[in-house]
Amino acid sequence: MDGTARQFAIERPPVVALPIAGSDQLFPVRRVYCIGRNYAAHAIEMGHDPDREPPFFFQKNPDNLSPSAEFPYPPKTNDVHHEVEVAVMLASGGRDIPVAHALEHVFGYALSLDMTRRDLQGAQKKMGRPWEIGKAFEASAPVGPIHRVAEVGHLSEGRITLKVNGELRQDGDLNQMIWKVQEQIAYLSEYYELAPGDVILSGTPSGVGPVVPGDVMEIAVEGLGAMSVKVV
Ligand code: MN
Repeated sequence: MDGTARQFAIERPPVVALPIAGSDQLFPVRRVYCIGRNYAAHAIEMGHDPDREPPFFFQKNPDNLSPSAEFPYPPKTNDVHHEVEVAVMLASGGRDIPVAHALEHVFGYALSLDMTRRDLQGAQKKMGRPWEIGKAFEASAPVGPIHRVAEVGHLSEGRITLKVNGELRQDGDLNQMIWKVQEQIAYLSEYYELAPGDVILSGTPSGVGPVVPGDVMEIAVEGLGAMSVKVV
């Protein structure tokens, strides 16, 4: 190194940055972890036994998180499903974080959707292949403004719902999570080094189903308010 600042050889990708409620500041995203089958009734509707499985995670890409009120229907699918979830944003991280201290790393929470190309995910599952093509596509995780812990506290219970065109489709309670948020953080930190900017989508209650262009999804979580996302 000769001491001069090195230039990037190609255009530098932007840092994905999400809005924070009541603030001009932004939350920079590093990684996105998503837990599967974390509400018993949803595990059952997907054909699994909720009692026997350790937690498992897949990932979305940071730039799949979308603060937009519109969800563009993705290509190469005929069966896009909604999954309403609480997104957990980390302010700090580490390795081997004890459950008892895990919530100290949370910056805040946001409403989110884990949109899924269910037909593609199903085909990958059948062949024992990774899920990314069904899960980690453009704008596949609409996300609302982040509410700081100082504002809303920690969310261990409260109703979580999703309506499509006014009709209730998903209706659960955060207290139905099989693996609590603090357990998810502790578990992930045994396998990865967690860091500021990491996001965890904490799972969806039962009632997942398809949407089509023109549909309006309204999601709500007690303590986080509500938001609408239109399929376009
Ligand atoms: Mn999900």
